[in-house]
Amino acid sequence: MLDPATIRVRLREVHERIDRAASRAQRDPSTICLVAVSKFFAAQDVRSAAEAGQVHFGESKVQEALSKMDQTADLDLTWHLVGHLQSNKARRAASHFHVIHSVDDAALISKLDEAAGAASRTVQLLIQIDLAGEPTKHGVNVDALHAVLEAARQTHFVRVVGLMLLPPAVAHPEAARPYFTRLRALRDELAALFPDLPLSELSMGMSLDFEVAIEEGATMVRIGSAIFGDRPTHRFSRP
Ligand SMILES: *Cc1c(COP(=O)(O)O)cnc(C)c1O
Repeated sequence: MLDPATIRVRLREVHERIDRAASRAQRDPSTICLVAVSKFFAAQDVRSAAEAGQVHFGESKVQEALSKMDQTADLDLTWHLVGHLQSNKARRAASHFHVIHSVDDAALISKLDEAAGAASRTVQLLIQIDLAGEPTKHGVNVDALHAVLEAARQTHFVRVVGLMLLPPAVAHPEAARPYFTRLRALRDELAALFPDLPLSELSMGMSLDFEVAIEEGATMVRIGSAIFGDRPTHRFSRP
C-alpha cells in the first residue's frame, strides 16, 4: 500500500500542472477530466486517492478492475476502461464501466450496446485511433473509421462521445505533439461529417506528455505513474 499523504501531494501537483497547461492554452481547466490510472495498484490506493478528492479512475483490465470496484463499492467513483477490450468481455465491461476508451471495431460497439441495454445502463465510448499504423497497437485505422462511426449511429444505450489516442512511446513530450494535433484535427473533421454524434471528447496525454496534450485540446488525460509512482511490474502483466 502506498502512503496516502504521497498520493495526496502528487494529485495536487498534477492538478497544478493541468491548471498551468490549460492556462497556457487559454482553456478552462474544469473542462479537463483527470483519469487516475490505478492499474497494478491496490484498491486501498484507489481509496487513498478518492479520499484526496479523486473521482475518475482508469483500469486496463476488466478482471482487475472488477475486483477494485467491489472493494470500493461504498465510494461513488467513475470507472474508465483504458486498456484493450476483448469482445468476450464486452458484457462485463458494459455492466460495470462508465466510460470505455478503447473501442476499436463496429461489432464491438453493437455488442456493448446490447449488453448495456440488458444491464439498463448507459455507457460512454471513445474510439481508439491508430495514427501511427503500428502493427502491435490496437486502434482503428483512419480508413476504417467511417464504418465504425456508422455503427455508432445505430446505438441506443452506449454513446460514442469522442476519440482516444495511445501514441507511440516517445523520448520527449514534444515528440508526441504532432499526434495530438492530428487527433484533434481528425475529431473536427469527423464532427462535421457526423453532426449527430457528440464527438466532444479527446482522451490523450499520459504522465509524460499530458501538458502537451492539454495544449492541443485534450479533454481527458489518463495519468498513472505521476500519481501512484512506478508500477509494480511483478503483480500483473503489462497491457
Ligand atoms: C497505463 C496507461 C496509462 C497511464 O500511463 P502513465 O504513463 O503511467 O501515466 C494511460 N493510458 C493507457 C491506455 C494506459 O494503459
